[in-house]
Amino acid sequence: MQTENKKPAVFLDRDGVLIEENSYIAFVENINIFPYTAECIRQIHKKGYYAIVITNQSGVARGLFTEEELWEMNDYLIKQTGVDSVFYCPHHPEGIMEKYNMTCNCRKPGTGMFEAACMEFGIDMQRSYMIGDRADDIIAGQNAGIRTVLLESGYGTARLEKSVTPDYILKDLRDVIEIL
Ligand SMILES: [Zn+2]
Repeated sequence: MQTENKKPAVFLDRDGVLIEENSYIAFVENINIFPYTAECIRQIHKKGYYAIVITNQSGVARGLFTEEELWEMNDYLIKQTGVDSVFYCPHHPEGIMEKYNMTCNCRKPGTGMFEAACMEFGIDMQRSYMIGDRADDIIAGQNAGIRTVLLESGYGTARLEKSVTPDYILKDLRDVIEIL
C-alpha cells in the first residue's frame, strides 16, 4: 500500500553493514568502508528509497570518544557512501559520562531513532526495511513494525546474542538490493 507521496527507507546499521566491524570505532581513521557500500547506496536511491543510518554509539556515554568526534565520523560516512543521514544514540545506562548516562528510547532495540527519522524525512514505514548484523537491530526493526534483514557481513549469525527471526538472512548489503 502506497501512502501519499512518501518514500520508504532502507534503515542501515553502521558497523558490519556499511563498514567493517571493529569493537569501538573512535576515529575517522578506524572506519573501513566495505568496497561495495557506495554503489549499494546508489542502487538503494535508484530504487526509490532513502538510505538512513541508525546506529548505537554508546562509546560516547562510555567516554571513548566525544559527540563532536562522532559528528566527524558521521560526516565522513555521509561523504564517502552517499547515505542521506545518520541518526545515532550516544547514551548508555551504565555510561561514565554524566550527560549521556541514561536509559533512553533511542538506543536500539528502542524505536526513537526511527521516530526522529520519520519526523525529518516523512517516511512510508510500511514499505521500509531495517538492515543489521545484530539481534538488537532486528528487534528494533520489529518494534518499529518494519521488515528486517539480518546480514552475515558483521559478527555473523553464529555470534547473535539472542535468537531472532528476521524476514531475511543475507550475506551482505549487495544481496539487499535484490529484494527491494
Ligand atoms: Zn539514546
